Amino acid sequence: MTEFTKRLMIGAKALNCEISEQGAHKLHTFMQLVLERNKVMNLTSVTDEDGFLAKHFFDSLAIAKYVKNVSTCIDIGTGAGFPGIPLSIALPGTDFTLLDSTNKKLKFIDEVSAKLSITNAKTLHERAEDAGQSDSHRDRYSTAVSRAVAALPLLCELCIPLVAIDGVFIAMKGPNFINTGEYADAQKIIKDLGGSIVSTHETDLPQLGSAEKISRTIIIIKKIRATPPKYPRNSKDLAKIYKKTV
Ligand code: SAH
Repeated sequence: MTEFTKRLMIGAKALNCEISEQGAHKLHTFMQLVLERNKVMNLTSVTDEDGFLAKHFFDSLAIAKYVKNVSTCIDIGTGAGFPGIPLSIALPGTDFTLLDSTNKKLKFIDEVSAKLSITNAKTLHERAEDAGQSDSHRDRYSTAVSRAVAALPLLCELCIPLVAIDGVFIAMKGPNFINTGEYADAQKIIKDLGGSIVSTHETDLPQLGSAEKISRTIIIIKKIRATPPKYPRNSKDLAKIYKKTV
């Protein structure tokens, strides 16, 4: 076992996520593939191994305990596969759909899945707001997860429509998030979308040596009612409403 895989397994365990030696080895290879492709394609700004371990792997695996035991999970705006690829390796019993509007990132993920024999993750090239209005994806997933895609109000509009009633949307945000205006701003739209915040978790990621401590906030939103048909609104309207290009 390499030093990297050892530290990965110990860190995962501290996050209540058991990862096998084979799984840790796959993640190590995944990191090498991301860093290699990153030379020709913008996939991540984190290029040192310790940073990758903490900011990509521990951060992704910090939500594994909330995703465990669900049948389906959609990762919205997965980019190079975060948190979707680490979760699909850690949770082989769950079927993952990794959605992004940028096809070349998904092509990279398809290559990764083939090389690492990941059989429980497939990619979906679509905008989240279009998937949310399509019969094949709306209300279909037991869980939705998303990291670094949009501010929480818009993010909820992109993610909650895809979740089945009684399912959950797990949002990944920075430290002290519940004291931010972004959190306050999301309360009304969460209710309008049929959601209800069930818990928020301030989590410290496992620390590596003397590296700075990284804290995250995990927000668990349950879908308790059907989302009204007008949500998600189309991308043009969303851009106007949230004053942001989505
Ligand atoms: N989740 C990854 C990537 C974050 S970057 C990580 O944490 O590293 C944001 C990603 O969201 C980009 O890949 C972008 O293409 C995608 N994205 C942004 N808005 C989207 C939308 N409306 N529908 C689908 N994907 C979207």
